[in-house]
Amino acid sequence: MLYITTDASDFYHRDQECPAFQRGRNASAPNNYESHPIREVSEEETAKMRPCTTCLGET
Ligand SMILES: [Zn+2]
Repeated sequence: MLYITTDASDFYHRDQECPAFQRGRNASAPNNYESHPIREVSEEETAKMRPCTTCLGET
């Protein structure tokens, strides 16, 4: 199972549909900033990161 994140975030998300993830993406849009690229997170990497409480908050 792969999760996603961006380089600007310490959180990982289930997928791009997560509202919290999209809020973060949109936050940079008004200034014409290029959004941080989405990258996949391996299961190993999640150990060093925090789960998004919106889409992965069940733990
Ligand atoms: Zn999320």
